Amino acid sequence: MIQAIDHLGIAVRSLDEAVPLYENALGLRCLGREEVASQKVRTAFFDVGGVHLELLEPTSPDSTIAKFINDRGEGIHHIAFRTDDIGGQLKQAAGAGVRLIHETPFEGAANKLVAFLHPKSTRGVLTELCAVKPGAEPKH
Ligand code: ZN
Repeated sequence: MIQAIDHLGIAVRSLDEAVPLYENALGLRCLGREEVASQKVRTAFFDVGGVHLELLEPTSPDSTIAKFINDRGEGIHHIAFRTDDIGGQLKQAAGAGVRLIHETPFEGAANKLVAFLHPKSTRGVLTELCAVKPGAEPKH
């Protein structure tokens, strides 16, 4: 079952430039940074009343975030829904005709398992499903 909007992913060229913007312009506090080597990104998280912002900086020119920024510029990259059953949620989406980018969840940032639905099947919105890893505590 979908439980909440977990976070919004925002593609940025530089965390060092983007983090102070959110801190200074909006008064938000960065909860932490984390590199996700498998996705070739560095992330920084902010809490906004229980919904997080996940800033994503590419660590390599062949990162999907680098490609996104090259094609469309910085901006909102994905919306992530928290679920208590990521496998069941993927099955439900596939059964509804949605194209899955990942058939099986993989380890994302913050001790979470994640999988993405293809934006061509979801009205242009790259959609992430995420769940806290079994036995782990969410990092933030
Ligand atoms: Zn995300």
